[in-house]
Amino acid sequence: MKHKSRHIGEVTKFRADTAERITAPTAKRMSGGRITRHGRPMDVSPRELERAKDAVGRKAKDRLAWALEFAQQNVDELTPGELLDDRIRLRAFIRPTEVWSAPVLLSSLPAAIDVVIVRREFAGMLQPVSDTVQRGGEIVLMYMMGRDHEGRPTIDIGTGDPVSGATLRFAELLEQYGPEMRRCADPKCRRWFVGRQNKDYCTTTCLSRVTTERLRKGEK
Ligand SMILES: [Zn+2]
Repeated sequence: MKHKSRHIGEVTKFRADTAERITAPTAKRMSGGRITRHGRPMDVSPRELERAKDAVGRKAKDRLAWALEFAQQNVDELTPGELLDDRIRLRAFIRPTEVWSAPVLLSSLPAAIDVVIVRREFAGMLQPVSDTVQRGGEIVLMYMMGRDHEGRPTIDIGTGDPVSGATLRFAELLEQYGPEMRRCADPKCRRWFVGRQNKDYCTTTCLSRVTTERLRKGEK
């Protein structure tokens, strides 16, 4: 991992990044008041976040499936709309229990470049490791103390930037559910997916392709 330096100087972003409830004024402060080309701030509604949470998965194993899909996606095919979806989904992946009480400025979500870096990072984590060389990275954790409505101390644990946050989540999921990962038996595909032990192909597309090829060879 090469993004260690990104942690430095990003402490101010931490509060909003880890707060369970984000209000629009907080997001505005964080974004530095950036506006769209049309001259008005662009925000994302709480409903859009909920939709992103559905897409990413409400359960941990579903989120691993989403992350595998995300890591192995052909990025050349992304439309600007899909990239925007990815930014919101990445936020939902990093903070799956987060609830918004008001719209949040788009500029306070993971940036487009973060989406690109996270995808590359995840893809790298799926690469086979040799027996002799150890590979891994460092993630700096931070915590933020708060207080609930009864005055009890609360704590949020997080990272200083979305790339570290997403990497941490993915690492946790791989640690917990890694043994349930399978690799598509189609030699032309070889994608990682989460599935039952008896499932050899990531999709029915791969299954039928291999079956068709086998039949064709059998006929000769
Ligand atoms: Zn496949």
